[in-house]
Amino acid sequence: MKRLAYLFVTVFLFCLTWVSNAQQKTIIIDAGHGGKDSGQVAESLKEKDITLQVAKVFQKVAGEKGYDVILLRDNDKFISLEERIKKINEVKPYLVISLHANATTNTNKSGIELYFSESEELKDVNFNFISKISSSLITQTKYEDVKVRNANFKILSESNYPAVLIELGFMTNVNDLDYIRSEKGQSEIVNALIASL
Ligand SMILES: [Zn+2]
Repeated sequence: MKRLAYLFVTVFLFCLTWVSNAQQKTIIIDAGHGGKDSGQVAESLKEKDITLQVAKVFQKVAGEKGYDVILLRDNDKFISLEERIKKINEVKPYLVISLHANATTNTNKSGIELYFSESEELKDVNFNFISKISSSLITQTKYEDVKVRNANFKILSESNYPAVLIELGFMTNVNDLDYIRSEKGQSEIVNALIASL
C-alpha cells in the first residue's frame, strides 16, 4: 500500500512538473501568407488555407498540453513580414514555427523541408531544434527523410528568438497534398512538432 502511495505521489509530481514546464513555454505559430497573398495554389487549394489549418490544429493540441500558443494570424488576413517580426520580438517566444507549403512544376517532387538561420547567437539553439524536429518528423509522419537547409529568410534571421520554417510538403505532388490537407497528416505533423519542443 505504501509503495502504491509512493507511486501515485511520484506520478502526480511528474505530471505537475511536465505541465508547468509546458506552461512556461510560449510558441508562436506563423501561418504563412494570408488575405490577398494566397501563397502557392494547387487543385484550387491555397497554401494560406493549409498553413492556417495546421496552425489551428497546433494551437488546439499544444494548448491542451499546457503550452501557450500564439498564432500570428488566426483568420484569412494579410499581415506584412515587418508586422510578423515585430510581434515575434515583442512576445519573446520559446520558439517560432513558420508554416509554408511548396510547389514546383515537377509533380513527382515530394517531401518536407526545414529551414533555419545560422545567425551567430542562435546558431546552436536553432540547430538543436532543427535536429529534434527533423527526427520526430521522420518517426511520426509519412516522410522518410527531411531536408534541412539554412536560409536567410527574414522571418528567421530577424527573429531574436529561436525560429524554424517548415515547408510541409509539395502541393504539386498528389500524395503530399492529400497528406497535408488531411486530418491524419495535419495531426501527425503537429504531434511530431510538439514532441520536439
Ligand atoms: Zn509559402
